[in-house]
Amino acid sequence: MTDIRIPVDLLPADGRFGSGPSRIREAQLDELVARGRDVLGTSHRQAPVKQLVASVRAQLAELYALPDGYEVVLGNGGSTAFWDAAAFGLIETRAQVASFGEFGGKFAKAAAAPWLQAPDVRQAPGGEVALLEAAEGIDLYATPHNETSTGAMVTPKRVDVAGALTMVDATSSAGGTEATPSEWDVYYFAPQKNFGSDGGLWFALLSPAALERIERVAASGRYIPESLSLTQAVANSRKEQTLNTPAVATLSLLDSQLRWMLELGGLPAVSARTKASSDYLYAWAGERDWVTPFVQQPEYRSQVVATLDLVPEVDSAQLRTILRENGVVDIDPYRKLGRNQLRVGTFASVPTSDVERLAAAIDYVAERL
Ligand SMILES: *Cc1c(COP(=O)(O)O)cnc(C)c1O
Repeated sequence: MTDIRIPVDLLPADGRFGSGPSRIREAQLDELVARGRDVLGTSHRQAPVKQLVASVRAQLAELYALPDGYEVVLGNGGSTAFWDAAAFGLIETRAQVASFGEFGGKFAKAAAAPWLQAPDVRQAPGGEVALLEAAEGIDLYATPHNETSTGAMVTPKRVDVAGALTMVDATSSAGGTEATPSEWDVYYFAPQKNFGSDGGLWFALLSPAALERIERVAASGRYIPESLSLTQAVANSRKEQTLNTPAVATLSLLDSQLRWMLELGGLPAVSARTKASSDYLYAWAGERDWVTPFVQQPEYRSQVVATLDLVPEVDSAQLRTILRENGVVDIDPYRKLGRNQLRVGTFASVPTSDVERLAAAIDYVAERL
């Protein structure tokens, strides 16, 4: 323990600023306890759990104002499992993949499956972005919306090529930024970031073209394991089910968060919240000579994950240790980036008032290092 004690009036009301898993609001936990008896430890093939799945699916469709024909599909295994499901069930021959950090890079690996042609990987170094671009022979274009490892964010845009799909990894952006369904065919995420839930499930908002592609690839005779089969996921989701047992607590936390988001005013409201918080941090950094936003171009700075580089005299690890001793946790940079950096999740559940106090707490510690 160091002896730096941050004054209570500078400490956030809740010290969790992780970029995933992230802060879960008290009300979500209360609701989980209250309805736990009806849904936890009961059959997921019976009405109570099916109603919970139905409620999550309906609220997601409402949050994104999904056009007719779009469907909300879910399955087990989080976004990582969805990458493999997409390699088996969505890419026909060859994908183009934007890779500008850890998560885009991981999908590029999944898209290099032996039954496909090697993906066309559009790469950019950490802190920058790579953009998708129409190219010959590509049937699926994939990009992260927000690259959680670096704090770089793009605006998802459809690559307008007849017959090709546009797919967006929205794991850390969904529920915290606006997104227009007409700009994508597949918008997928896991709920442990803005949705303040737990891990283990994936959700995909699918356009009619994506649903058609899933049918066609499955009918081609390609070997697809059952647990990664998107036709299974679509068929089960239509019955408010999953192929195998889902994480019901994760569904409950997500359901509560969706209701809260819709009551706040939906995507425009949550987006305004995350933007106010991250704008505050970028402006705060701009006023100090020892901290600078890692992403150079302001238009690509994430509104949900703010990455801030520190000068060598302010040691991130030491700063974070002291903050942790004072109850402020998880502002670590992505380990493989290896930078003297802070990374702050400014997700929907984090009020801007807590971000202001976080900045004040960092000032307090930095002045004393
Ligand atoms: C967190 C994250 C993932 C990984 O999600 P899992 O559910 O742990 O597989 C994938 N992509 C992005 C952009 C993420 O932020």
